[in-house]
Amino acid sequence: MNTKTITIIVLAAQTLLGPPSRAVETYDVRDSNGVPFMRARIFGPGDGPSCCGGGDKPNHSLRIVPQWEIDHSLAAIRHWAEIIKVMPGQSPAIVNIGGIRGNTAASIIQASPDGGTKVEAALKGQDPGELDYGAHGMVAIGEMGFSSDAYIPSQLPMTPKIGLAPVMIHEFAHQLGIASTIIYGSEATPFSPRAISPYFAESINAWTDHLHDDNGNQAKPGQAIYCTVCANPRADDVFDLRRDQGYFAGKNVSEVLAGAMPGIPVRVMTEDGRQDVPFVSHSELKNSLMSHQGYRNYTSLMEAEIAAMQDIGYSIDRRNFFGYSIYGNGQNLVNDNPFFARNANGTAYLPNTYNTATLGLGLHVYGSGNTVIQRADLLSQGAGGAASASMAKAIGY
Ligand SMILES: [Zn+2]
Repeated sequence: MNTKTITIIVLAAQTLLGPPSRAVETYDVRDSNGVPFMRARIFGPGDGPSCCGGGDKPNHSLRIVPQWEIDHSLAAIRHWAEIIKVMPGQSPAIVNIGGIRGNTAASIIQASPDGGTKVEAALKGQDPGELDYGAHGMVAIGEMGFSSDAYIPSQLPMTPKIGLAPVMIHEFAHQLGIASTIIYGSEATPFSPRAISPYFAESINAWTDHLHDDNGNQAKPGQAIYCTVCANPRADDVFDLRRDQGYFAGKNVSEVLAGAMPGIPVRVMTEDGRQDVPFVSHSELKNSLMSHQGYRNYTSLMEAEIAAMQDIGYSIDRRNFFGYSIYGNGQNLVNDNPFFARNANGTAYLPNTYNTATLGLGLHVYGSGNTVIQRADLLSQGAGGAASASMAKAIGY
């Protein structure tokens, strides 16, 4: 396909300051089976273009990426490498990382021949297509007042500042396929405040294929999208988001949500009423790391979001990272689900054996007002593991 899906691209007219040239630094990360997972290529100014930039202009790194930013980025890659089992053949996925200015971070996604992301294809053993600037995707790190302290794996933020590792976990999730394949019409760019005429690409990716509109109807290739800021002509068969109640649904997500909601909420508009472009490319579960909400207090994706990664085709032993989650509200529950280490095949728990996943979590209570009696053991001893967590009650707005 000839379109590029670009997520939160940040453009700046810039003059290179011309610091001394350095070689691009390369770091390799393997998955838990030892299969090559991802190669990170770190660009500084003077290392040449690392990506596509805006329009046809190459995008250069605007500043040197300090070692602590590299370390946090690698922590995020290792986080995903622990979760996803590579389907061998096309890996590692190669990602260029550069430094930019401004209060932001960005993931620039390249589409593979079948419409998914190139990074996703490389990890699923599918043809990712050609490299762009030597990579399958690009992540740009801005200046968001990040803490430069060493990354400490934890279920809760460990610093009052913004943690770079969680931000990079978010940006890499876009590279991994959490992004819609929407074309925004010829009259305006996705970043223009003017009315837009969005529609799904003819070749939609797995994330988009799982999206449902306000009326519960599944997305179809080429379909026009209606929303409060969309200006599409009348059509019989549209993806209707005028009430902005779209959601991602799939077998694994349904299993996790257990009827608490029809799927993971996705949105066209932000909380404060602005266009949230690219549309329906984030998970708007409350305060989620994968959301675009102003306040996000999770440090990694929650179980429903990892289930979405399974639904889009990744091989993940979800029970190695989550014992059980409760998304409903006001329930009286007895939880007999344990949390232990997994067997070698990842098919069952090993009773009375501690789970060592870095961010393993025995029980996550997302919903509010529940009374839960925990009747099974939750044995977690990963570096940032926990027996249970209830973010909704503990923090909230
Ligand atoms: Zn994002």
